[in-house]
Amino acid sequence: MNSNATAIVWLRQDLRLADNPALRAALESGAPLLPLYIDSSAEDGDWAAGAASRGWLHQSLTALAADLEQRGSRLIIRRGPALPVLQALCRETRADAVYWNRRYEPLAMARDALVKEALRAQGLVAESRNGALLAEPWQIATQNGGPYRVYTPFRRRLLAELAPPEPLAAPAALPAPPAWPESLPLAALGLQPGHDWCASIAASWQPGEAAAQHRLAQFAADSLAGYADNRDRPAVEGTSRLSPHLHHGELSPRQVWHAVLRGAASAGVPSAEARGGKFLAELLWREFSYHLLYHFPHTPTAPLYESFAHFPWRDDPGALHAWQRGRTGVPLIDAGMRELWATGWMHNRVRMVAASFLVKNLRLPWLAGARWFWDTLVDADLAANTQGWQWVAGCGADAAPYYRVFNPVTQSRRFDPQGRYLRRWLPELARLDDRGIHAPWLATAQELAAAGIRLGRDYSAPIVDLQQSRTAALAAWQQMRG
Ligand SMILES: Cc1cc2nc3c(=O)[nH]c(=O)nc-3n(C[C@H](O)[C@H](O)[C@H](O)COP(=O)(O)OP(=O)(O)OC[C@H]3O[C@@H](n4cnc5c(N)ncnc54)[C@H](O)[C@@H]3O)c2cc1C
Repeated sequence: MNSNATAIVWLRQDLRLADNPALRAALESGAPLLPLYIDSSAEDGDWAAGAASRGWLHQSLTALAADLEQRGSRLIIRRGPALPVLQALCRETRADAVYWNRRYEPLAMARDALVKEALRAQGLVAESRNGALLAEPWQIATQNGGPYRVYTPFRRRLLAELAPPEPLAAPAALPAPPAWPESLPLAALGLQPGHDWCASIAASWQPGEAAAQHRLAQFAADSLAGYADNRDRPAVEGTSRLSPHLHHGELSPRQVWHAVLRGAASAGVPSAEARGGKFLAELLWREFSYHLLYHFPHTPTAPLYESFAHFPWRDDPGALHAWQRGRTGVPLIDAGMRELWATGWMHNRVRMVAASFLVKNLRLPWLAGARWFWDTLVDADLAANTQGWQWVAGCGADAAPYYRVFNPVTQSRRFDPQGRYLRRWLPELARLDDRGIHAPWLATAQELAAAGIRLGRDYSAPIVDLQQSRTAALAAWQQMRG
């Protein structure tokens, strides 16, 4: 190797400078560094980033470029299939090494393996690191040596073995190459569609590494202690809202892990108790999702359990559209779907109930729901989304049994008893009282008139009968089993 040659750091879903193992490896090589982002979205096939994620990405790359400049570096942007782009850049800049952090989506894994092989065949250094997970999916196996399909033993095993090292600090300065190659302007990637929808989502978030760190610190200080009590209440900001930062790699799970343990220690909570706490259990669901995606790469489009391939789904574009736009006439579903549309995020409890309504009450295919989430979530993540949908649909690993159908009215009364979440997203129902707001079709004509609501005019009547559709879903399930 030429000791003065440049090393490329190929940034993907690791848009941060702190705790970035690929960046650290490149720095330790002693070479000048060339940070690179390639828009190679066509290589992600059907699961190229959706519209909400792309809007986030635009802002995250803007923040990353500014952070790099503060350290005497730059973000070079190119577009096209990754391998020829990397080869051309190596030729142009005489770079002899490329470093990146791993991705685990099936198409990205296959592409990365080819890239590594081709670069090494040319005599270049091509090195990948783990920057996205607490443990590699292939490091954890059952006693039989196979993958886990049940979460609790997976979590126990991980907790017994995990000792994530302390996160790496961000480098204070980054050595620049002798000359900078040309870069596309970020705007050339067309990541922001530029209509009102994206503007509304952008107003709800602050992407970028500094903002992610700030949110983590704020959550650890203000909400972590109450997490177990508040995490299921959608009207309360009781969860971390770190998911988009984690998906885009503005934050690493190691940083989250250690911040939580430090926060617990300063509150006098013993480490063993904090490791077994509710919040880290959720972070380990993320690990479980990646474990499943890695070992069962067909699951983004097909059920893990094959019997579900024959489930008698319905085809009803009108009902799908009503669900997508929050016009089903069932308040908790509509509030969640409108939260999603307005902010690019939906509370986990409501995600479960809204997904259940789609696949059980409306009996529409889970993949139709997964694709809508994919396009509208700022945290859309192939591992977590696939696992979330298959869990709700009853066809995935450790899934909720199909016959357990969430009742959206009961869920709404239980987790949003004063209707604060409902009133926020459904202002047309705001004047109904705390009892009536969960199921306006059960309110008396007088109550509706007093609240200024005519069902079907001011707010939709329910598009399905909850009881009848539940019975029909269970019959369909029996038919599939038969
Ligand atoms: C149908 C459905 C689809 C989903 N799609 C996604 C998705 O595309 N992307 C995504 O990140 N999460 C998805 N989830 C999981 C979960 O809803 C979100 O991770 C969570 O709501 C994010 O909010 P938070 O950061 O405040 O979570 P917190 O409660 O603060 O949890 C902390 C972190 O743990 C991880 N996490 C929490 N719950 C889960 C879970 N069930 N599965 C995997 N990781 C989890 C997330 O990274 C999250 O940021 C989905 C869930 C369902 C039911």
